[in-house]
Amino acid sequence: MRIIRTVRGIQTWRKGDGPQQGTIGFVPTMGALHAGHRSLIQQAHKTCQTVIVSLFVNPLQFGPTEDFTRYPRPLQKDTTFCRREGVDMLFVPPLKEFYPSGFQTSITVSRLAQPWEGERRPTHFQGVATVMTKLLNLIKPDLVFLGQKDYQQTLLIKQLVQDLNLEVKVVMCPTIREPDGLAYSSRNQCLPPLQRQKAVLLYHALQRGEKAIKKGIRSAGKIRQTMLTKIATDRQVTLEYLAICHAVTLEPLRQVKGRVLLLGAIRLGKVRLIDNLLVHVPTRTSRKP
Ligand code: AMP
Repeated sequence: MRIIRTVRGIQTWRKGDGPQQGTIGFVPTMGALHAGHRSLIQQAHKTCQTVIVSLFVNPLQFGPTEDFTRYPRPLQKDTTFCRREGVDMLFVPPLKEFYPSGFQTSITVSRLAQPWEGERRPTHFQGVATVMTKLLNLIKPDLVFLGQKDYQQTLLIKQLVQDLNLEVKVVMCPTIREPDGLAYSSRNQCLPPLQRQKAVLLYHALQRGEKAIKKGIRSAGKIRQTMLTKIATDRQVTLEYLAICHAVTLEPLRQVKGRVLLLGAIRLGKVRLIDNLLVHVPTRTSRKP
């Protein structure tokens, strides 16, 4: 596995030093790799000849009071992880070269960045869009593999790719979960035992919502109420939002129909977690007389 640690290095690699044929698959990450990241890498291997992973904790997507400095950075472990997964190239850009002093450009995706995560983390998606534009421009992959775990982020990157005519296909991969159902996240390792136990409540709430839809409930208000009973009463958990929205526009719904997204964010002490479920609402079949 080749490791490139400079921006110049990746540019040289892409111009001729790198693979001249075959499909390039790219998995952008912030490191502290887990089974969720593994599934993206494995998906990339299925369709691409060359698989590139980036490790970069992007300061632009953290708010001033968020966990940028506390975010785990087990570089050695991540390198071994990627080697074992047969990654062809690891890109680990240094912060100062990636954003040199005087850096002043940022990318904004307007509508999709506004609700949910955008409301709670006002500069987050601008940071995500900026880093992704830079990474896609440097690596120029044919396919980029992103997780459903960060559904709003993945949707926003799809929009960015479309709007800027970037020649890359965005592949959304399913959320991988720990045995109790908690979605794998680099932040899970920061949870103390009691809070780790409670962390799965968000997923349970989403599952309740899904069940209610399957039972035939179509009022989003009623579905949300059912979801809330699972989570709103636990003193360890601070609920940031729990919502039912359109799977493409992310607008909140009154009545569920078609493909809907149940999503939420909670805080357990200093750790913030997000999760979602996509549900296909069956159309009512008319009864025979
Ligand atoms: P991160 O390192 O958290 O920035 O995540 C890098 C990529 O991995 C993003 O596209 C995430 O959506 C994806 N990802 C994170 N957790 C999971 C998971 N549990 N299952 C699938 N993909 C994930």
